[in-house]
Amino acid sequence: MDRFKSDVIRALVLSSLFFAVSVPCLAQEQPLRIKYWLAMPHPNTHLFEVTVEVSLPADSRLKSVDFQMPKWSPGRYAVFDFAKNVQEVKAREACPAGLDCTSPNLAVTRVDDQTWRAELASFMHPGMSLMFSYKVFGNDLSGTFSQLDSRHANFNGGCLFMYVVGHKQDQVSLSINAPRGWRVVNGRMDKKDQTEFQFANWDILIDTPTEIAPNWTEDNFTVDGKQYHIIVHSIGNEGGKRPMLVRDIEKIVRAETAMWGPPEFDSYTFLIHFAADGHSDDGMEHLTSTQIIEPGTLVDAATYQEALDAIAHEFFHVWNVKRLRPVELGPWDFTRPVSTRGLWIAEGITNYYGHLMLRRAGLSDDAKFLSTLAGEITEIENAAGSKLMSAEQSSLSALFIDDAPQSQQTNLANSSVSYYPKGELLGLVLDLLIRGKTKGKASLDEVMRRMYEEFYLKSANSSYYLRGRGYTNEDFERMVSQVTAADMNDFFKRYVRGVETPPYEEAFAQVGLRLVRTPRAPVALGVTGDENENVNFVVASIRPDSPAAEGGLETGDIIASFGGTKLTPSNFLKTLERYKPGDRVQVSLLRNKRPIMTAVTLGPPQIFDYRVEENPNGSPEVRALKAAWLGGK
Ligand SMILES: [Zn+2]
Ligand SMILES: [Zn+2]
Repeated sequence: MDRFKSDVIRALVLSSLFFAVSVPCLAQEQPLRIKYWLAMPHPNTHLFEVTVEVSLPADSRLKSVDFQMPKWSPGRYAVFDFAKNVQEVKAREACPAGLDCTSPNLAVTRVDDQTWRAELASFMHPGMSLMFSYKVFGNDLSGTFSQLDSRHANFNGGCLFMYVVGHKQDQVSLSINAPRGWRVVNGRMDKKDQTEFQFANWDILIDTPTEIAPNWTEDNFTVDGKQYHIIVHSIGNEGGKRPMLVRDIEKIVRAETAMWGPPEFDSYTFLIHFAADGHSDDGMEHLTSTQIIEPGTLVDAATYQEALDAIAHEFFHVWNVKRLRPVELGPWDFTRPVSTRGLWIAEGITNYYGHLMLRRAGLSDDAKFLSTLAGEITEIENAAGSKLMSAEQSSLSALFIDDAPQSQQTNLANSSVSYYPKGELLGLVLDLLIRGKTKGKASLDEVMRRMYEEFYLKSANSSYYLRGRGYTNEDFERMVSQVTAADMNDFFKRYVRGVETPPYEEAFAQVGLRLVRTPRAPVALGVTGDENENVNFVVASIRPDSPAAEGGLETGDIIASFGGTKLTPSNFLKTLERYKPGDRVQVSLLRNKRPIMTAVTLGPPQIFDYRVEENPNGSPEVRALKAAWLGGK
């Protein structure tokens, strides 16, 4: 029995059980009036207080209502089990004004790891509301989790708000009771100091990250009639750089809307944190907003650049992934992880354009942009996993590699590749090949625009969740072939579904560039050192196809001496430089404090540094293609 069949049979068995024991099944499909109340009376406890008010129809035959905490939330694919931070779950009947409410609490049973069931009681008044309440602990400033502390509340709804099972598609409202003097802001504001919100469904509620604090700042600009709000909560020093940040964000917005055309919203909000804590670092896309969280301060130049990088990436998601999306991405089943083969497009190509748009916006120059690309090639081509895992397989492994918690040791460092840089490089190569093959008449820009038009703007809605429908990788491949006016199947077979090295040289040649690689060391040993050690050379990783692997080295070994030289993290490369491929070297190791002698035969270089150079013999035609690529034509 294959997995699909067993799932279908299980679903049939479950649904027949459900029909047999549960009268309310059909009734549950009628929309309910659902209102979320959010309070945070004790910020120092990091406990958000949530009440879900469900108005039951007067003729309801419901015996119980199930509330479910999602296992994960959109934009990040790892399973986090938000239910682990839920406590003090209760249910009661609402107490309308003027009524004497002495109703006892309703029984709440925990059905499984993420589901709570409120049992409706005979004493309840017909047409009354059920008040289901709980507390959620949140102390992480991130694009996925939530934080409540004495400085602010910053929440992402997926980890706070349980949905009513069977009613994710119903309209919901939210009322926020903020501490005195704290102001609410998110990407769905109709007026200043708004605390009441309406959402078309629960998915849109959790797509609306919200900041609540006494001291965030707001700057605004308008591009093509659309309002942009720059909300900054700086924990550290800004050094007077906020006006420049706002101007630079406007340049990014102009560059990206120039490629795509006008975005669908009327207003968009950048929620930006300069956390100054050295670790909170994230970016997350939403339909009418984004959360950008930088671990440094605005005054710091490197932090400033990283913020622009994140902003260019996240704003590109307004089109690519939030609206134009792989078919599996929404609406979602939050009881299990989602899998899609398309993240190399949704995230990787977004990464490519994030970098390219900084260049088009004038916030980066040719040298910096090309050096970023060379850095990505260096990362991918040196990764052992890039010969084992394709871009499609990497997309399917997202839940293991995108900020996923790892409780056991894994070999992912050797066996996987990230769809961010891998997809970025496939986007780069496709873009340049399309420009070359069509003599500049088309580009990846055109592919993306036509995908947006066909799947988002012009397709019939496939669900309650969003306009249009999702695409498959085959749809994307078809569009690339169509725009290129050539069959591109071979490209997808070899470089997207396969693990062959993409044709970088051929691609760069289209725009008068060439890729140069130089060995990082004259010989290969195949180990990296533990970066936290500065006295001993402790083996952190071993390439599977390397002399170190053949010589029997293990991670955790201390290389006490290498050819008679005491090895340290600082003399490692210099020591290797004394040798040539084929040399046999005696190595003494300390493994679990016991000495071990072995020998390795050094191999030819395995690690290379890449750079992208101008080809001085480029024709005027290739120069024109390069200018169009970098300038956005
Ligand atoms: Zn804040
Ligand atoms: Zn992204």
